[in-house]
Amino acid sequence: MADESFIRSSLLAKHGVTGLFTLRNGGVSAKPYDSQNFTYGLGDQDSNTTTNLNRLVEKAGLSGWPHQAVQVHQSDTLYCSDTGLAHKQHADILLTDQPNIALAIRTADCLPLLLADKESGIAVAAHAGWRGTVAKVAVEAVSQMLHRGSKAKHIVASLGPCIGPCCFAIGEETAQALANCCQGAAQFVTGSDKKYADLWQINRLQLLQCGLKEEHIEVINECTCCNSERYFSYRRDALRAGRHLGVVELTCKP
Ligand SMILES: [Zn+2]
Repeated sequence: MADESFIRSSLLAKHGVTGLFTLRNGGVSAKPYDSQNFTYGLGDQDSNTTTNLNRLVEKAGLSGWPHQAVQVHQSDTLYCSDTGLAHKQHADILLTDQPNIALAIRTADCLPLLLADKESGIAVAAHAGWRGTVAKVAVEAVSQMLHRGSKAKHIVASLGPCIGPCCFAIGEETAQALANCCQGAAQFVTGSDKKYADLWQINRLQLLQCGLKEEHIEVINECTCCNSERYFSYRRDALRAGRHLGVVELTCKP
């Protein structure tokens, strides 16, 4: 579909949760941020980003603007309620236990993780680049959910588009850190001369080790770096890369 502007998580939809990942198309931003850029201050006009957000809220049927935070590649959590805001706090995990609150993570190659537990009414959006993966942001996100009453067996997770192992060449130090970040991670750091890492599989492993069921974890393995028609990529386009949103919401219609 030429005008497709986001993809929905079919696993989250199956569990009655809104989860989506935006694509490049369907927005109003000019080159090189064409056309659906979701971050301010990159060189795109602020009014374009705002229009893109308003359109997404309408097209996706979100309850309002999604909460966003300043992402710093760590594992701090921001609790969100009320109206969606661009928070000034540093956080790579956004959590809510309220219905009709949208949470969003901005990415261009990093992995967006959407988690939800319909039983306890808790939703999380988390940001896992390689640093976040080493900091075990997925494990911390689950732990925050458990702390607020979720059960691991009820949590469903969608791992969105990110830079794939086809393109994610890394240095020796990064390779070591990723290989050692959790038990079994080393098998997803491959290559001899040059090392490549699979952020999807390492994060999936972390979620499994938290007790999530295999059938409750979805991987949307579309590489952002390979696929310039559909995705922005920092590795590919550096400062000329726009940003996507990964959005989760537990919608409760009256
Ligand atoms: Zn690739």
